[in-house]
Amino acid sequence: MKLYKADAVVLRARDCGSGNKLLILYSREYGKIKVMAHGVSKPTSRKRGAVQPFTLTRFLIYRGRELDSVSQCEGVEMFSFLKGNLEMIGYASYLAELVDALTPEREPNVNLFTLFLETLRLMAAGDIELLVRAFEIKAVGLIGYRPVLESCAQCLKPFSTEVFFSPCTGGVVCSACGPNVPDAAPCSRGVVETLKVLLSWPPARLPQIKVERRARNRIKYLLHEYLKYHLEQDFKSAAFLNKYITPPGL
Ligand SMILES: [Zn+2]
Repeated sequence: MKLYKADAVVLRARDCGSGNKLLILYSREYGKIKVMAHGVSKPTSRKRGAVQPFTLTRFLIYRGRELDSVSQCEGVEMFSFLKGNLEMIGYASYLAELVDALTPEREPNVNLFTLFLETLRLMAAGDIELLVRAFEIKAVGLIGYRPVLESCAQCLKPFSTEVFFSPCTGGVVCSACGPNVPDAAPCSRGVVETLKVLLSWPPARLPQIKVERRARNRIKYLLHEYLKYHLEQDFKSAAFLNKYITPPGL
């Protein structure tokens, strides 16, 4: 079959000259795919809207010898609340970059696709910061790096009130193991309980929880350390968020 269908969110679109764009898509059917969209930058192109970043689009893709190309496409969901909102675009860029960093090409993960889409939808009205934190911990879990939160990740024993969080050990470590683990950062039972909620609750339920600013900052720090360790890279969009966006309450 030379043609195949894919429902996908556009993660990135790069101009390649002559009105063409190289698209990085995250699709339900095939995971991450790279495709060339010919002529879509031209003002007359009817495909322009459907190939914008963060758009859910139904693609018909032509299988090429080296690079696949868009045969037809139709925008399904535009997430118009993102338009002109720098903070929203910053968070959406970060989510897209995270999906890109977490996934190899052509490896479908329907759960990650669904989580990505649901998180984008919920961003319209909700606690964006908590949604993004929940996305981070759920997404890293969905690709096989679910942090251990129920007992000490090192000795597997139950932990007391004093706890640490260690990316290289894979989650929470107890007060006995903490001092012997190189990257153990102080944590608290309250933060661990919130991490459990972020990991296990459906994103739509998150507005029910209240998390104070101190705990939010700690969770952000710990999850970013965890992601950095497991992805061995720093995120441009995370730096963007830290630089340009002051969380409410600070
Ligand atoms: Zn331990």
